[in-house]
Amino acid sequence: MSHVLHRSLTQSYPTAVGGDGVYLIDADGKHYLDACGGAAVSCLGHSDTDVIAAVKQQIASLAYAHSSFFTTEPMEALADLLTEQAPGKLDYVYFVSGGSEAVEAALKLARQYFVEKGEPERRHVIARRQSYHGNTLGALAAGGNAWRRQQFQPLLIEVSHVSPCYAYRDQRMDETPEAYGTRLVNELETEIQRLGPEQVMAFIAEPVVGATLGAVPAVPGYFKGIRELCDRYGILLICDEVMCGMGRTGAMFASEQEGIEPDLLCIAKGLGAGYQPIGATLVSKTIVDTIKNGSGFFQHGHTYIGHATACAAALAVQKTIAERGLLARVNTLGTSLQQALEERFQSHPHVGDIRGRGLFRGIELVLDKKTREPFDPALKLHAKVKAAAMNAGLMCYPMGGTLDGRRGDHILLAPPFIMEEQHVHELVDKLELALNTVFNT
Ligand code: PMP
Repeated sequence: MSHVLHRSLTQSYPTAVGGDGVYLIDADGKHYLDACGGAAVSCLGHSDTDVIAAVKQQIASLAYAHSSFFTTEPMEALADLLTEQAPGKLDYVYFVSGGSEAVEAALKLARQYFVEKGEPERRHVIARRQSYHGNTLGALAAGGNAWRRQQFQPLLIEVSHVSPCYAYRDQRMDETPEAYGTRLVNELETEIQRLGPEQVMAFIAEPVVGATLGAVPAVPGYFKGIRELCDRYGILLICDEVMCGMGRTGAMFASEQEGIEPDLLCIAKGLGAGYQPIGATLVSKTIVDTIKNGSGFFQHGHTYIGHATACAAALAVQKTIAERGLLARVNTLGTSLQQALEERFQSHPHVGDIRGRGLFRGIELVLDKKTREPFDPALKLHAKVKAAAMNAGLMCYPMGGTLDGRRGDHILLAPPFIMEEQHVHELVDKLELALNTVFNT
């Protein structure tokens, strides 16, 4: 009997014992093509020798030093590299150990900024429905996933939720993408006015929505409209790029592709690519200067901030991505993957939509292709797809649909940037096998 409290208390899991490039290997020697990087984490696959060497070297010289006593070389070098790549005035990096912590830090930085700026009445956060920003209480409160929030509701800070940008489901037939985007920006403005603009602290959103919608980019102009609105009302814009950032969509940051500069930008997953747990919040100079000229102290912190080995791993990951020109590969392979998915599944009776950007792709499953009616969530189609895919030697990331938000089950794909064309074909073949098993075709 396992004494590990796994998330599922009823399921048993194969034991992962090794990794080889784009494959994970279990204790029976079975190979799984990792087409989702776990949850969009393993962007360099599972056996990168440069990263492994960097981790070994760092542990041997200095594994860890507490950030309230020391700074470290890998932490400083990683912050230099990230701020060089980040858009505009995101000049500072606050290191944490994962995505939820990056979101918590963003929320607290936003709050402290307004307190020190002399606007302590700003406390409201606005987020979007059907969103996920993490599982710690602040991040969970920001997220708009009804099922995840339900039983913890009494413990959550008040956050209001507006519509996500989800053209496949919500753009009207008689509406252009631009008009749809404008309608959503107007909806946010109405919510800001309802709350009282002087009380609103931040708006948080994922530029390309990962886990909850399945690789859904916004319509053109939406984020520019959001940025303008936030500026008009003095509200901070937090971009959650925990999943879609660090090259996943073909640019270092997805917000860059939207032509906007957030005030706070959260990253994690692809930052350390799974070689070490690490996340970060990139922070604008304006926010930092305000706190610097005020109390001079960010009232937050964790034991493993800027963990030296984690920073060394992330530094090696990011250098490897740059040196091997992997972002260009993300774009070309992303296009191949989209094409291969469309060729194979476009005419599938239960595939409603195939979408995404770079090596971040989503397939939405529907009961009826014409009406886009989702399957009943009680069928747990996503769990069946996951099991069938694992049987076929494929890791993909299926997620359940909801009837309230009228969202179908979807399959998220986020394969490693090091994959080759042959893996695109292997992925599609194995996914077809899994879908055939699930739909008995
Ligand atoms: N934000 C987004 C957009 C995410 O996808 C996730 C993780 N799936 C998180 C935050 C939370 O990250 P973590 O699980 O590392 O705490």
